[in-house]
Amino acid sequence: MSDTTARAPLGTPIVQPIHHSAAYAFDSLADARAVFAQRAGGFTYARTGNPNVAALEAEITRLEHGECAVATASGQAAVALALLSLTGPAKDAHAVVSSRIYGGSVDLLTDTLADTGLEVTFADPRDPQEWEAALRPGTRVFLLESIANPLTELPELDAIAEIAHRHGAVVIVDNTVATPHLYTPAEHGADLVVHSATKYLSGHGGPLGGLLVDAGRFDPTRDPERWPWFTQRQHRWGGRSPVEVYGAKRALLGVARCKYLNDLGPCMGATTAHEILQGITTLGVRVERQSATAQRLAATLSEHPAVARVHHPLHNGTRQAELLETGGYRGAGGVFSADLRGTPEQVERVVDALRLIKLAANIGDVRTLVAHPASMTHCRLTPEQFAASGITENTLRFTVGLEDEADLTADLFQALSVIAPAEAPHAHA
Ligand SMILES: *Cc1c(COP(=O)(O)O)cnc(C)c1O
Repeated sequence: MSDTTARAPLGTPIVQPIHHSAAYAFDSLADARAVFAQRAGGFTYARTGNPNVAALEAEITRLEHGECAVATASGQAAVALALLSLTGPAKDAHAVVSSRIYGGSVDLLTDTLADTGLEVTFADPRDPQEWEAALRPGTRVFLLESIANPLTELPELDAIAEIAHRHGAVVIVDNTVATPHLYTPAEHGADLVVHSATKYLSGHGGPLGGLLVDAGRFDPTRDPERWPWFTQRQHRWGGRSPVEVYGAKRALLGVARCKYLNDLGPCMGATTAHEILQGITTLGVRVERQSATAQRLAATLSEHPAVARVHHPLHNGTRQAELLETGGYRGAGGVFSADLRGTPEQVERVVDALRLIKLAANIGDVRTLVAHPASMTHCRLTPEQFAASGITENTLRFTVGLEDEADLTADLFQALSVIAPAEAPHAHA
């Protein structure tokens, strides 16, 4: 054997090592002082930065065609940080929010952030006029999803973003269901893109994670009176303004990271960032297969006698199909829903009869899951919010994994026979 101790071994790891370190050491106090005062770039403590987390932030910035990104402990934290950074210090803060938004976002907006004074008006993402009518002088943000969960409505994003920008509001788009593989909100007027990386980006139902990506469009110096907490000098930022510290295009996420992430603490860990980065390497193949299987299952179920209607962009009317075709979408994603016929008791028996398809409140896993939104993800909605959501007691949401389509069809048909028996179609060639 040759002597290998003389020089470092050849070959470097393909996968980045996991940097499990709470803190970072400096060669001199002068270096430490410069990084802590944010006069020089670098890591201080893992609550505000870590090499694995930074690699994930760089990757999502690239995929979303953005300017910069911040990772968080969960999607919920990403949405919360986005809203706090854009509305937290304002006394008259108001948000216009899609009536078809994720249930956790509704709780955050109408309960926890409502306690801080944030006011919300809900509007239909398919009707830009409702967004225009909801505007107030204090409206700072519009929040909507690029593919709504669970009913898969596509928003009129270009028109809604145009209204927001005309009135100085920032457009936040939750791109969790579409993923950047199927849709890039920054190309349709989004200023800030948020993700629950727990879902498709991670892809395997493991860690929770969230991401905020700044598209690089928002510039608070264009209307400094509206955004004084970005444009005015404060003790917090060493007697400077966030715009002076981070630059106009990065002030928003500078505040999100160095104020809210730092003070509230919902940071992402190194192992989570590593797992999500590994997941992203297979994002395209997973999402394309899940999207194609979901589209075929939706078509099959739309003909089943136990199904009243399916919710999928190809079954939601001509405008939705047109948006899918020409609105910049590269697929409709792996989520679809079905309203069953029959009584709520029969619907419950169908859910309990599914064997391959597991009952769980998650999406974007490689395993196919079913949820009953009325009892699970959307159980805290008020009767008015529930009516506006379009969900019924008979709605089931499916999130399609990577199993064989014929196996999924067989499981669905045996369970739906509780309501109406039907013959499963022949498997796809
Ligand atoms: C799951 C989800 C969230 C919340 O993300 P967590 O990672 O569960 O905190 C936000 N938006 C959408 C669309 C989601 O599906």
